[in-house]
Amino acid sequence: MNKMETTWITGATGLLGRAILEDFSTAYKGRFVGTGFSRASGKVEKLNLLDKAGVEAFFERNQPKFVIHSAAERKPDVSEKDPSATWALNVDVTEHLAKLCHKNGSWLLYISTDYVFDGTAPPYQPGDDTNPLNYYGKSKLAGEEVIQKVFDNFAILRVPILYGEIQHLAESAVTSVVLDLKGSLPSRQDNWAIRYPTHVGDVALICRQMVEQRSADEGFRGVFHWSGNEPYTKHQMACVMAPIMGINCEDITADPKPAKGTPRPQDCCLESTLLESLAFGRQRSFPDAIEDILKRTNLKNQSS
Ligand code: NAP
Repeated sequence: MNKMETTWITGATGLLGRAILEDFSTAYKGRFVGTGFSRASGKVEKLNLLDKAGVEAFFERNQPKFVIHSAAERKPDVSEKDPSATWALNVDVTEHLAKLCHKNGSWLLYISTDYVFDGTAPPYQPGDDTNPLNYYGKSKLAGEEVIQKVFDNFAILRVPILYGEIQHLAESAVTSVVLDLKGSLPSRQDNWAIRYPTHVGDVALICRQMVEQRSADEGFRGVFHWSGNEPYTKHQMACVMAPIMGINCEDITADPKPAKGTPRPQDCCLESTLLESLAFGRQRSFPDAIEDILKRTNLKNQSS
C-alpha cells in the first residue's frame, strides 16, 4: 500500500460508513478521509454530495485514488415517497462521482443492495438477472448502471440488511424490530421474507480488503456480493432479541404473509463465494453480535 494513496469514504456518518472509518482507522496503511452531511463532525468533513462544485473542489484537494461510495437514501419507504430526492442522491450523485473518478484515474467502490433482485430465484450470483421490486432497489440498480456506462475502473459490492453499532434503534432495519417490541404486545412480525443480517464491521473489513486488493492489482474490478450466512425472518430476529429485553417469543405473532406497503422481495440470498475464494471476509454470528450490541444500548431511553 502506497502511503500517499488516499481513500475517500462517502456516507462516513452512516451505519456502514462509521464502521468503514473505524476499520480503516485501525488497520489501513494509507491515508483516508471520510465525509458526511447533516451528522458530520470531528474528523468527518461535511460535504453535500448534491453540491457538484463542492464535490469537485473536494476531489481536487484530496486527489483520492480510491472512493468508497456508501452514502445513499437506503430506506425503501422513504424512497417510495420521495423518488426525485432518492434519484438525485442514489443515481445522479453516483454518476457524478463515476465521472470524476474516470477523469482522475480513480477506482470507485459502490455499495449496492440485495434489493436489485426480485427474490424469486435465490441464491444469487453477481451475474444473475436483476429485477428490483421497489423504487429504492430500482435507484440502486440505476446507480450500478450509470457507473458501468461511464467507465470500467469500479467494483460494485451488493450487501443485504445491515446491523451494527447504532446511534438510535431505527437506524437499522434489524434494531427497528426492537422498537416494535417496546410497543404494546403481542407484536406482529413478518415471517415471510428471509433476510441475511450482516454486521457492518464484516462489510467494512471486506471494503478495506477490496481497496488493498485494488491497490496491488489494477485489474481488480467487477460486481461482488457479501452476505451474512444465517437466514432469519423478522419474526425469527425478534425471537433472538426478545429475551434480551425480557420478552417472551410467544408474545410475538408470526405473520406468514408479505408485509403491506412498499413491495419487498422474499429471499435475495447473495452468494459470497467470489470474495470467499479470495480468502476475504468474516461472517459473525447474528445472535452473539446482536446480544452484544443491545446490551450496550440503553434501551430504556430509546424511542426511535
Ligand atoms: P445510512 O445509515 O442511512 O447513511 C446514509 C449516509 O448518507 C449518511 O452518512 C448521510 O449523511 C449520507 N448522506 C445523505 N444525504 C447526503 C448528502 N446530500 N450529501 C452527503 N452525504 C449524504 O445508510 P447505511 O445503512 O450506512 O447504508 C450504506 C450503504 O449500504 C448505502 O449505499 C445503502 O444503499 C447500502 N445498503 C444498506 C443496507 C442497510 O440495511 N442499511 C442494506 C443494503 C445496502 P448524514 O447522516 O451526515 O446526513
